[in-house]
Amino acid sequence: MFKRILIANRGEIALRIVRCCREMGIETVAVYSTADEESLPVMLATHRVCIGPEKVKESYLNQEVILETARKMECDAIHPGYGFLSENAGFAGACEESGITFIGPAAKVIQSMGDKQTARTLMRKSGVPVVPGSVGMLGSLEEARKEAEKIGYPVLIKATAGGGGKGMRKVFKEEELEKAFFTAKTEAEAAFGNGEVYLEKLIVNPHHIEFQILADQHGNIVHLGERDCSIQRNNQKLLEETPSWILDEDLRNRMGAEAVRAARACGYTNAGTVEFVLDDEKNFYFIEMNTRIQVEHPVTELLTGVDLIKEQIRIAAGRKMELTQEKVSFKGHAMECRINAMSPGKVSFLHFPAGPGVRVDSHLYNGCEVSPHYDSMVAKIIVTGKTRLETIRRMRRALEELMIEGVETNTEFMHLVTFHPEFIRGKYDTSFWEKHSETIFRWNEEGMTSDDE
Ligand code: ADP
Ligand code: ADP
Ligand code: MG
Repeated sequence: MFKRILIANRGEIALRIVRCCREMGIETVAVYSTADEESLPVMLATHRVCIGPEKVKESYLNQEVILETARKMECDAIHPGYGFLSENAGFAGACEESGITFIGPAAKVIQSMGDKQTARTLMRKSGVPVVPGSVGMLGSLEEARKEAEKIGYPVLIKATAGGGGKGMRKVFKEEELEKAFFTAKTEAEAAFGNGEVYLEKLIVNPHHIEFQILADQHGNIVHLGERDCSIQRNNQKLLEETPSWILDEDLRNRMGAEAVRAARACGYTNAGTVEFVLDDEKNFYFIEMNTRIQVEHPVTELLTGVDLIKEQIRIAAGRKMELTQEKVSFKGHAMECRINAMSPGKVSFLHFPAGPGVRVDSHLYNGCEVSPHYDSMVAKIIVTGKTRLETIRRMRRALEELMIEGVETNTEFMHLVTFHPEFIRGKYDTSFWEKHSETIFRWNEEGMTSDDE
């Protein structure tokens, strides 16, 4: 087993990894930017090293400095968390070359799955259903026009390097194509340094259903069920739950089998997520694979009792998984709300919910600063219950207990989401926010009235 792991991340996920390592008796090295000097993961790690200023390019994305620190601090592995360098094949490769274990899949797997179009091709060849779309990249607007005609409107222009909902544009008719094509390219070029785009059929108001995968280095692959992440705003997830209320046993088994097939096809090892969209008629299509731990991994942990970070570390150390598909079992229901800060500032008062079935993953503490330089997510409220209804009621009371003062958050909105009839029915799709945010904003302003829906 590893002796010392460098954590190449910040915030709640860095803290999650520190906690896991402490339980496993593994030392940690927290690398941090000057903005995070007084952050919780830095305080709780065994060792800490400042690697640069706030700017992510000069700190959390600075591969050379991070690798140099890992060597100097004699770390045998690096955990990249999510975001930052977690899906950077070059970085994973550089770790491999330095003899430091990258806790994740092999660099060449990240390379092929990180590029959406390459991944689609590989999946298509392996028999995994993918969304109909263009085969190569779109070299010109003319080509985009031809492909869109062939596939049929509506279509979605997607950046092959995309992530975090960026570099994506819906096109409902030909007149909109030109603008969508160029704005998607420009956005992708700015965000990922790669403006290559392709076309996919736009599945109208699909459900976002993803499967958690674990694969060891001995050929064992299991899936740990699904997460329904259809409550999204601008293609970014706000609330995730498992099990999904729209899957039956048969569909779950079929989708799970395709997720395992996807992982096997690309030679996957470690934890990963296979994302699908599911249409009204229960047809499902692969959209992408995230070759890393996911923000919403705790709901799967609560449902299955498996510690995914621990499994990641064990697998990276070459251990054989004890888990088999038959041993994976699901108990009850689990749900997560992402709490985002609407503006930076100092947390002047903080109280986290607790009690039965409640877990909070957050790096906040009383008096800490929420920095403007990084992701706005400040806490994840995760709850579990025997039934979906109990879980919803538990989420409500947990959000009622959550008190964050000094910075504005979306807590109240998330609380109101849990009262929406469509959410309660559990059959919502990715258009939920678009359709109902107005109602939710009004509830927030005026309260609910008796004739609401
Ligand atoms: P998840 O699929 O785990 O829900 P998200 O897509 O919300 O993840 O992204 C998780 C985090 O990683 C977010 O902070 C997001 O901004 C960041 N992220 C995702 N993809 C990329 C990418 N390609 N480049 C940079 N950051 C990314
Ligand atoms: P990212 O890397 O940014 O997470 P994804 O390919 O996972 O990009 O897409 C993000 C979200 O966009 C999905 O969760 C889904 O809601 C929507 N989406 C993606 N592809 C399609 C599609 N072909 N049709 C309809 N919606 C889609
Ligand atoms: Mg995605």
